[in-house]
Amino acid sequence: MSEIIRLANVGKNYGDFRVLQNINLSIAKGEKIVICGPSGSGKSTLIRCINHLSPHDVGTIHVNNVELDGKNKNVGAIRCEVGMVFQNFNLFPHLTVLENCLLAPMKVRGKSRAQAEETAMRLLGRVHIAEQAHKMPSQLSGGQQQRVAIARALCMEPEVMLFDEPTSALDPEMVGEVLDVMVELARGGMTMLCVTHEMGFARKVADRIIFMDAGQVVEIATPDEFFDAPKTDRARNFLSQLM
Ligand code: ADP
Ligand code: MG
Repeated sequence: MSEIIRLANVGKNYGDFRVLQNINLSIAKGEKIVICGPSGSGKSTLIRCINHLSPHDVGTIHVNNVELDGKNKNVGAIRCEVGMVFQNFNLFPHLTVLENCLLAPMKVRGKSRAQAEETAMRLLGRVHIAEQAHKMPSQLSGGQQQRVAIARALCMEPEVMLFDEPTSALDPEMVGEVLDVMVELARGGMTMLCVTHEMGFARKVADRIIFMDAGQVVEIATPDEFFDAPKTDRARNFLSQLM
């Protein structure tokens, strides 16, 4: 299996606070990773390091064999390959759904409007929302907005998708429609790193679970191993609080 993401000895500080410490990870193309752990354990910071939204201070990160060393050329190249979906959707509020999906492919990938529209409409169809293409984000429900955000990220044709608690801001009745889209994406072979506490999703799609605590990776295990026989007290405590 070919490696698509490699973190070696990655660390990061906010002032005196060590938010990430000695992170070593190798992720294969097509792998589905679920990252979980207590609030404040560094999950968001970790995935934000992978597209340089939060630059790391120590160690090395490679995506597709390109080193994320802060050089603009490399950051730009990696951001094209790494799509991101945030908790609060982060759609551009003044643009229609379709325009949200066209912006980066036209500006960054240099696609023509016709090419970008064809891809956008296909991907909006894939997240079951093509009929809303000409609406403004504020006219959509949270679940619909998050599905648009997923389509928008996919329009860049990324190699990897990062999700940071994509269902945490949703009303409970909308969680399922977003998870369903993520499951479909996983079945399509996308490499995915998902920070989520949706353990049903984790069991269903994750190849490996990464459990973080206090800025460190504490366990890496298959879902069966992690849920049925966590190795550390820290993981056991975390899981008992989710039940
Ligand atoms: P998680 O996603 O697991 O909840 P985060 O990666 O968001 O954790 O944050 C980890 C820790 O780093 C938290 O204690 C948080 O308060 C702190 N932190 C996050 N972002 C910043 C920042 N920009 N400046 C200072 N501290 C931060
Ligand atoms: Mg977070």
